[in-house]
Amino acid sequence: MRRLSGKTAVITGGNSGIGLCTAKTFIDEGARVFIFGRNAEKLARAKETLGKDIFTIQGDVTRADDLARLADTVKAGSGKVDILFVNAGVAEFMPLTVADETHFDRLFDTNVRGAYFTIKALEPRLNDGASIILTTSAANNMGLTGSSVYAASKAALRSFAKTLSAEFIDRKIRVNAISPGPIDTPLYSRMGMTEDEQTDAGKAILARVPVGRMGLPSEIAKSVLFLASDDSSYMAGSEIIVDGGMSQI
Ligand code: NDP
Repeated sequence: MRRLSGKTAVITGGNSGIGLCTAKTFIDEGARVFIFGRNAEKLARAKETLGKDIFTIQGDVTRADDLARLADTVKAGSGKVDILFVNAGVAEFMPLTVADETHFDRLFDTNVRGAYFTIKALEPRLNDGASIILTTSAANNMGLTGSSVYAASKAALRSFAKTLSAEFIDRKIRVNAISPGPIDTPLYSRMGMTEDEQTDAGKAILARVPVGRMGLPSEIAKSVLFLASDDSSYMAGSEIIVDGGMSQI
């Protein structure tokens, strides 16, 4: 029996990295999946690779009209939503001494405002008993030089998981978070770090990972699947940390 048979999932940032890998995992478990992101080419590639159970919607989580269109498309295509993976995000590391307003606004607009209004737009479409999962980060559980704004934006999501869980629990909607360490995705390669090659800044981050390597998107997707499915039916307001021990040891 596939764990998500008959379920409908929405994944923001579903056309790349962790979101894309999770979309594949959900489809393999029987779900129909709506993915949302800005880049049309990446959306088309995802559609080509993942096939008939994937539906793509182009849009920006910082734009209310795009989120309204996402909610309308999901309503027309599936009616209700069982799983909402709030995963779209941007990362940028910069010490406070050089950070400017643009850096702060970019991270908070996408990571915090985007996540909050994604949930607000989709909330009327959620089935009772739905699962919402927010992507936080190891950064919000430790002191990582240069990550203050990014870490604060992700700490806000950790807080949303708790408070929104309290607000939605009478509908048996569970809200939890997944906290990845450095995962080998385009997000980190844009910051000069892949499993095979790292800049000095990348090497410094990797040196803080006790298991000694970057994680794979599939190592996050497995935990997201757990949070999305009834296997985690007794979890609400929690965070699963999958970071190679980075924030824990
Ligand atoms: P990717 O860069 O591969 O994916 C980021 C996704 O977010 C893309 O699909 C991108 O789509 C989407 N996105 C970004 N901004 C917007 C926007 N304004 N509107 C809509 N979609 C947007 O990185 P990851 O898969 O690594 O990142 C996924 C999440 O995981 C992020 O929230 C990130 O902060 C978090 N994370 C990642 C870690 C890592 O090591 N990789 C560690 C800890 C947390 P598009 O470009 O088409 O808009």
